[in-house]
Amino acid sequence: MPFFTPDADLPGRRGRTGVIHTPHGDIHTPAFIAVGTKATVKAVLPETMRELGAQAVLANAYHLYLQPGPDIVDEAGGLGAFMNWPGPTFTDSGGFQVLSLGAGFRKVLSMDANRVQADDVIAEGKQRLAHVDDDGVTFISHLDGSTHRFTPEVSMQIQHKIGADIIFAFDELTTLVNTRGYQEESVRRTQAWAVRCLTEHRRLSAARPERPAQALFGVVQGAQYEDLRRQASRDLAGIVDSDGRGFDGYGIGGALEKQNLATIVGWCVDELPDDKPRHLLGISEPDDLFAAIAAGADTFDCVSPSRVARNAAVYSPTGRFNITGARYRRDFTPIDADCDCYTCANYTRAYLHHLFKAKEILSATLCTIHNERFIIRLVDQIRAAIGAGEFDDLREHVLGSYYGHSTRAQ
Ligand SMILES: [Zn+2]
Repeated sequence: MPFFTPDADLPGRRGRTGVIHTPHGDIHTPAFIAVGTKATVKAVLPETMRELGAQAVLANAYHLYLQPGPDIVDEAGGLGAFMNWPGPTFTDSGGFQVLSLGAGFRKVLSMDANRVQADDVIAEGKQRLAHVDDDGVTFISHLDGSTHRFTPEVSMQIQHKIGADIIFAFDELTTLVNTRGYQEESVRRTQAWAVRCLTEHRRLSAARPERPAQALFGVVQGAQYEDLRRQASRDLAGIVDSDGRGFDGYGIGGALEKQNLATIVGWCVDELPDDKPRHLLGISEPDDLFAAIAAGADTFDCVSPSRVARNAAVYSPTGRFNITGARYRRDFTPIDADCDCYTCANYTRAYLHHLFKAKEILSATLCTIHNERFIIRLVDQIRAAIGAGEFDDLREHVLGSYYGHSTRAQ
C-alpha cells in the first residue's frame, strides 16, 4: 500500500482529500494533528483525545530528548506505547525549538517583521542560546543550562528512538527579519541537512527492520521569498537515495506572515509532487486552516487550541471568547450549544467560569476538550465539504460567522 493516497482532484473543488497510511492506522486528510509536546496533550487523557476525534498526535523531539531522554521512550516501545496512544504519531525534528528558544522567540508568527533586517536576529532582552554552523546547532538546554549539539544525524537518531510514525528532517529555522543573504545560506544549509537526514534515516531503518516503518518528511524553508521557497521545494523533491526513493512527504516550515500564508503554501505546493502529503507546521486559526487547505496543505499541527484553553479562551462559531468574563458568572448554557463535545454536553459557562476563578485544574481539562474538538470538527467539516464540492460555501459561512464579515473575496 502506498504511504499516501490522494483522492483525484476534481475540477472546481478547492483543496484535496486523501488518506495517509501509517503502521498505527490511517489519517484522513485534511486533518488537524493535536500537539502533545512532551508525550501528552496537556490535561487530557489519550482516550479522550481519541473520543473527540483526534486522528494523530505530534510530540516534540527537542523536549523528549531533554526529558525523559529518547532511550527511555525507546525502551517503552516507542512514543505511542509510552503515552498509551494507539494511533498514528508524529515528532518534529527539534530544529524549531532549538532555534526559536535559542533566539528567544517562542512563536514565529509573533516576530515583528518590521524590524530592521539582520544576519544575527535575537529577541530583545534575550541571550542567544543556540549557534548554527554548517554541520549542526549547538544549544543550551532551557531546563538546566547544559550544552547540547544537534546535527541532522543526531536528530534522526533521536526521532528513531522516539519511534513516531512520521518524523521530520532537521532544518534551520530563520526569522522574518534575517537578511536575504542569510535566508539563501540557510536554505542551502537546510538542503544539505535534508540529504544527510535521508541517508541516516535509511541507515537506521535498515538497522532495526523489525520495528514499524517510519516515514520521513523533508522541510521547506525560504521565508517570504518566492524564488527561495520554489527552489527549496524543487530541490527537496529531487533528493533521492540510491534506490531512487525520496522523502515520504514534506513539511512547510519557518517564518510565515498570516497574510502571505496561502501564497507561500501555494508556491511550495506548485513545486512538490502531488502524490506526497504536505504538512504545514504550526497553524490552527480557522481562517488559516481554510487558506492552507485551499492552497493544498493536507495536515497541520498547532499547540494553540490546548494552550489558549488553559488561559480560559474558548472557541465558538461566533469567535473566541474568554470564559472568565463577568457576564458568564450566571450563564448556565454550554460554551457552544451546537458543539457535540463532552464539555458542552455536561457543563455550563458558569461552572467553567467558577473553575478558572477558583484556579481548579479541571478548568484546563474541560476547556481543552472543547477547543480540540472545535478545531478537529472544523477540519472534519472542511474535509466533508471538499468531497461534496461545497468548500467555498462552508468557508464563507464559517468565517463570516467567526469573524463577523464575509470572506469570500479573500
Ligand atoms: Zn464543546
